[in-house]
Amino acid sequence: MADALPPSLQEIAERVAGYDPKSLPVAQAREFIDRLVPRVQAVEMLALRSALGRVLARDIVSDFDVPAHDNSAMDGYALRGAELSATAATVLQVAGSGFAGQADLASAAPGQCVRIMTGAVMPPGLDTVVPQEFVTLDGDRISVAPGVVRSGDNRRLAGEDLARGEAALAAGRVLRPADLGLLASLGRAEVPVLRRLRVAFFSTGNELRSIGEPLDAGCVYDSNRYTLWGMLQRLGVELIDMGVVRDDPVALASAFGAAARDADAVITSGGVSVGEADHTKQVMAELGDVLFWRIAMRPGRPMAIGRIATAPGARGHHAILFGLPGNPVAVMVTFYALVRDALLAMSGATAQPLPMLRAASLEAIRKKPGRTEYQRGIVARAADGAWQVRITGSQGSGILRSMSEANGLVVLHHAQGDVAAGELVDVLPFDGLV
Ligand code: AMP
Ligand code: MG
Repeated sequence: MADALPPSLQEIAERVAGYDPKSLPVAQAREFIDRLVPRVQAVEMLALRSALGRVLARDIVSDFDVPAHDNSAMDGYALRGAELSATAATVLQVAGSGFAGQADLASAAPGQCVRIMTGAVMPPGLDTVVPQEFVTLDGDRISVAPGVVRSGDNRRLAGEDLARGEAALAAGRVLRPADLGLLASLGRAEVPVLRRLRVAFFSTGNELRSIGEPLDAGCVYDSNRYTLWGMLQRLGVELIDMGVVRDDPVALASAFGAAARDADAVITSGGVSVGEADHTKQVMAELGDVLFWRIAMRPGRPMAIGRIATAPGARGHHAILFGLPGNPVAVMVTFYALVRDALLAMSGATAQPLPMLRAASLEAIRKKPGRTEYQRGIVARAADGAWQVRITGSQGSGILRSMSEANGLVVLHHAQGDVAAGELVDVLPFDGLV
């Protein structure tokens, strides 16, 4: 990587039009974060299967045609399209047969055809395959009724999947099952991928107890570390679970220092709201270049963002800090709205906007313009096949059940106002196919 110093938070803020840390629109927060985060550079070679879900480090160019030859798409008979009659049955003599993987090709003189199997190379001069179910066989002759097949049908062309010299996959792609298959069809046993992003995370707050500890009066079990673990696991990053860190300046400084040394990013939950009595904000500010935002969103208003060093004033390695609010729903929503794409960008992945559904809201929703709201919803198909969405129970930012019951987030955009019953809204579905 270049040795040039990364821009300071101040410089980044100056480049984000409409930047206002006291009421920051989600779009501006995302732009700021995208400008802040560095991208992983280190490349490693992995066996094809191990590369699933990893970020491709270089473009992959095909060095031969896939498929390498014209071949049959059906079990049937290969023939010359020009010999098909449009008005009467076409009768041809079966001169031989071709199977997938066979190298010595049968040949057919005019008036002849070749019995052929799916994937078998097309014999010279033959350009059309009639599926076997459309043929009447009589001894060594077939009869094809007019109109059942057109010239060129059921033939796969050489290079139709990938032409030699064509870019098969671009660097920055998160490899999916089809991509593994594509790479295999090119004969690649190993693939260059970027090293995995390392993400450290911990929970802060003196009221937090870890599972297995007794739940003292006034305390709650730390649930954020489990939702965070789950969300990070799904992103495919390398996890460093640092547990619950007590609200103690020394413990916090040591946790942040270790995270800055070992990880590319550190995610914390709790301790960043305005009225916080604890030390989290203070230690964050001392250890790094950190901003405390109030984001124009609901839930999830407070957030700390910046860089954390291994020790106060230390140069060299630092980690990007995402200091999330403590409320369990706010943690998840802030993660999906602001952190997820940032971690993907840090991993070297090319940005891919998530697909949204347009669904009719089953009820009216109150919404103030000037902030983005993420309500938890259940989307389903109505009898007529259209998508509709129902908001799940109480939307309080501490009520994790609303998130667990939902199958998507209803996104009420920054400028949007009240929603009438039946009005279409955007929904980010939780689950995808691949
Ligand atoms: P804070 O952002 O620290 O003010 O926390 C807001 C609310 O979230 C408080 O009710 C906390 O008890 C709760 N909270 C903070 N961290 C966690 C956590 N890791 N697990 C569950 N609840 C939490
Ligand atoms: Mg707190």
